[in-house]
Amino acid sequence: MALYRDEGVVLKTVKLGEADRIVTLLTKRHGKVRAVAKGVRRTKSRFGARLEPFMRDDLLIAQGRSLDVVSQAASLSAYAGGISMDYEAYTAASIMAEIVDRIVSAEQEPAPDQYRLLIGALAALSKGRHKPGLISASYTLRALSLAGWTPRLDSCVVCGRRDDLNYFSIPAGGSMCSKDRTPEARPVELDRREELEALVEGDWPILDRGALDATTRQIVEDWGEYYLERRIRSLHLLDS
Ligand SMILES: [Zn+2]
Repeated sequence: MALYRDEGVVLKTVKLGEADRIVTLLTKRHGKVRAVAKGVRRTKSRFGARLEPFMRDDLLIAQGRSLDVVSQAASLSAYAGGISMDYEAYTAASIMAEIVDRIVSAEQEPAPDQYRLLIGALAALSKGRHKPGLISASYTLRALSLAGWTPRLDSCVVCGRRDDLNYFSIPAGGSMCSKDRTPEARPVELDRREELEALVEGDWPILDRGALDATTRQIVEDWGEYYLERRIRSLHLLDS
């Protein structure tokens, strides 16, 4: 069997048979990879906890006929340690993993920008650099922006004017003036637009000043679900 080496982050795992798991990974050079991790559910697994969600590993993978097989895994960053201890951080990491799993839909297609964004966000989460909800909200908008869905915030999506931007339409892709607003466009204040802008830019000095406004949070959530065309399950853990 051909072997390849790459580094990757575990996005999710599902049980396979008695002792194995199928691990979904986002790798640096091979994009999304699904591989079997043999024996990981045994207490004496040679992989230990290295193939749990949010671990970043150096991997040796054997190409299989249908599914690849993880042959070796060495931990590069134990993000999972700092994340699994904290419910909010864990929820934020789950949102991020679910989103990138959706955005990078094809397997074995390199997505280096998405990989870089993900490991940056996981590192920030595990070190508690910012509030988990801010990290996942900013991640959501930035990951979607990389995929081509950047909200237009500084001008009306219809006429291009830069003032009177008091509405925001998710299907239309951003801000609207009061003349062009469509019925589904929601009213947004300037502060909310600035907050969204800071999330897209990753402008932490502004974001760290406080908690995210509920309207902004809703827009981020709806933006993600609209453009990924489905409910992001992990997002709703925050609402309950
Ligand atoms: Zn307009």
